[in-house]
Amino acid sequence: MRGLYIQGTWVPSSSGEAVAVVNPATEEVLDQVPAGAADDVDRAVAAAREAFPAWSATPPADRGKVLELAAGLLRRRAEEIARVIATDSGAPLRMALRGQTLVPAGVLAEYARLAGERAAAEHRIGNSLVLREPVGVVGAITSWNYPLHQAVAKVAPALAAGCTVVLKPSEVAPLAAYALIDILHEAGLPAGVLNMVSGRGAIVGEAMAAHPGIDMISFTGSTVTGRRVAALAAPGVKRVTLELGGKSANIILPGADLAAAVHAGVADAFFHSGQTCSALTRMLVHRDRYDEAVAMAADAAAGYTLGDPFDPATRLGPLVSAAQRDRVVHYINRGHEEGARLIAGGGDRPLPRGYYVEPTVFAGVAPGMVIEQEEIFGPVLSLIPYTWTDEAVEIANGTPYGLSGAVWAASEQEAVAVARRLRTGQVSINGGRFNPSAPFGGYKQSGLGRELGEHGLEEYQETKSLQL
Ligand code: NAD
Repeated sequence: MRGLYIQGTWVPSSSGEAVAVVNPATEEVLDQVPAGAADDVDRAVAAAREAFPAWSATPPADRGKVLELAAGLLRRRAEEIARVIATDSGAPLRMALRGQTLVPAGVLAEYARLAGERAAAEHRIGNSLVLREPVGVVGAITSWNYPLHQAVAKVAPALAAGCTVVLKPSEVAPLAAYALIDILHEAGLPAGVLNMVSGRGAIVGEAMAAHPGIDMISFTGSTVTGRRVAALAAPGVKRVTLELGGKSANIILPGADLAAAVHAGVADAFFHSGQTCSALTRMLVHRDRYDEAVAMAADAAAGYTLGDPFDPATRLGPLVSAAQRDRVVHYINRGHEEGARLIAGGGDRPLPRGYYVEPTVFAGVAPGMVIEQEEIFGPVLSLIPYTWTDEAVEIANGTPYGLSGAVWAASEQEAVAVARRLRTGQVSINGGRFNPSAPFGGYKQSGLGRELGEHGLEEYQETKSLQL
């Protein structure tokens, strides 16, 4: 069995127990990781606290050098690590390489630069000198859908800022985090600066959220778990950042290029089999062009080939686990019960093995239906008709979430005017693509705080003012 990484070495868990890691395409156990215990968290936190004074005093540019080396090592090992991600999370290999390995390598490189340029940025306000200092020991808890990206989006800015870290990867797809530890170890990160305790959320995650030796919790996962983490962190008045769920709307205005908007919208909703927090799962189309859009979406969905993540023809891999597959099937059944009209997919177990669900499109979805309100986290797209732009904005803003969104219009100016009215953390304009340097995070119950780029760095910093 693998180990826990504490004080720069691999050690066994005091529990002696393991969590099996399952390949979702074959349903076979492919590895085992330790099921960490609360006293493992104590040891990891003690190591991080001990390492904090020296690491926070290390010149930021030197901290950046470690991250720069790590970015190079990750690029060199990208093919191998992408295969690991494709195996334990089921992401198609090409996506695992580009989106899930090379993007995090870029994020590491960006924080290498920001460490030198921004981590110690000071400025004057009147008679005050304003300093930026590291928050302290950070507990980073991540989910399984972008396992390396999520770990890097927390660990890289935390280390750049001068914090030390205890990382808990998701027990569902934990293997990429082991590669990240190896890489940072090889890059020369001092012992204790980064520690990792694998295992279950209810044990390791809760011990971290409540731990008095942890100053900040950075969490990515579901809104339900995020609430629990925030409640456990509250007595210690820890800083908490939360990257949670979403139910994002794609508003297609009457003058938009309908074919381009529908094709891009379907692709976004089905990317990584719908297991993306910012997925555009609700497509809002003007009534005049609704039937046309329904036909286009059904056609587009039929072009998505399900299969082995290692087969280059595969566009949709399996869902990550049997539990996730069952949850998605439950929502598809719910859509039928609520009277939505299935226009593509809907079947589960389309292949003899693996946790696959067919790419599914519902038309005639009305605001307030369960499939319109709740995060499904699978390849299920809902098409919703609207008559007035105000109505579209109201529907888009009408869920408890506010993570992402999109607007398509005849002009950028028209789309931006509508985007300004959306209560979400990011909006794609006429197909504008994801930018890993731009702030990423949610309004409302989609989260607290921002990740990535300069904004992500600031989350790991305290602000101190000296009155001169
Ligand atoms: P999850 O909430 O079940 O688990 C996330 C992490 O929290 C895992 O490491 C898990 O072990 C841990 N955990 C579970 N229970 C815990 C507890 N009681 N205390 C502390 N930690 C606990 O989520 P998931 O199923 O792994 O991920 C899917 C969810 O993540 C979706 O809702 C998705 O929208 C969200 N997500 C959000 C973003 C974002 O940036 N906003 C990104 C990716 C995923």
